[in-house]
Amino acid sequence: MAGVALGKNEAKYIERLINYREQVVTDHADSPQEGFAYFDSEEYRQNYGGKRLGLSNKFKAVGLRNMPRMVRIMGKHIVKISKGRQECFSDLEQYLAELEQKGCLTAAASPLLQSYPNPGLWDSLCTYAWQNWRVKIGFTELPEQFVFKGKAVLFKHALVCIQEMNKAEIDHAPKLQAGSEVLKIYKELGLAVNDIARWLREKHSVRCQSNHPLGGLVNTTPLASKAGLGWQGHNGLLITPWYGQRQRIAPIFLEEKIFEYTDNYDHVWIEKFCKNCRRCERACPVKAIYSEKKVSADNIPGIGQTRTCIDRTKCFPQFNATLGCSICIKVCPFSGKEGSYRRLKSVYDKKNGKR
Ligand code: SF4
Ligand code: SF4
Repeated sequence: MAGVALGKNEAKYIERLINYREQVVTDHADSPQEGFAYFDSEEYRQNYGGKRLGLSNKFKAVGLRNMPRMVRIMGKHIVKISKGRQECFSDLEQYLAELEQKGCLTAAASPLLQSYPNPGLWDSLCTYAWQNWRVKIGFTELPEQFVFKGKAVLFKHALVCIQEMNKAEIDHAPKLQAGSEVLKIYKELGLAVNDIARWLREKHSVRCQSNHPLGGLVNTTPLASKAGLGWQGHNGLLITPWYGQRQRIAPIFLEEKIFEYTDNYDHVWIEKFCKNCRRCERACPVKAIYSEKKVSADNIPGIGQTRTCIDRTKCFPQFNATLGCSICIKVCPFSGKEGSYRRLKSVYDKKNGKR
């Protein structure tokens, strides 16, 4: 999306962290490049001549008649998306100053480690996130393979937050109505993780770092799968029991493991279900979804492999032009009405002789 490639705040943050590689969680040899950063990369310039994703292809895609509406939608959400992205980094000043002054992060061990796994605080956190932001949460350890190439985060324990995109709006994909919902949830979830992180810091003295759902520091889909919230579908997006593919994901990194991880393998069956479905692959207007996924990283603790599922040089121009495309999300049978996951699992279990 034009205007969200590596922001100044993020660039400055990375520049400050890079001298302290041993103290923080940095990328791995197998780390992928973040989507928007890829379109600024040398590899992209060499392979595709470096054609930029800009406003012009958005305007071409929606046509003259819809331009005022597109401008209105972008105006409504982009300022707060930018604000959310900036605050993710400005909120970290205390930790960055600590690193620069002392060469390491120096807080005394939190009393919450004595009271691990802190079921009361976990319940309060989940309640706060749900009541204020309609956000659901998992908790897991961040594998370094999920940190995007050239990026780094301060802490290795990740709260994984998801927020629903409304079905009635996404059903309009790829029209602007669906694009508006995509931007709205990027905006809301960005504000939500910053607020939840502040709540943890200010009310409970938990040292943490929030990160925005749009153009972030880590690959959040496998992270959410590892946290047991769902599993990666054939198109590479997360499928959860609550919303199917209709959600956005953003993390909050914690310095200490103060809660039990929520890791589980309950949703791995989706992998087999997708093999017989392929509805998203057939529906993609630019044929961006690979028939056979490509292994991008192996031997990842707790999850095994990560796979590349789409050709981003085909998907991103369409995604950018329509403010979020979402056709593959709309057609996924898991993205239907409440109860879709349960019904599909029951049919799958009957077919596979599990009941
Ligand atoms: S978002 Fe659109 S272009 Fe991208 S894979 Fe899905 S259907 Fe295809
Ligand atoms: S549309 Fe079908 S194949 Fe694609 S992610 Fe959804 S269930 Fe899997």
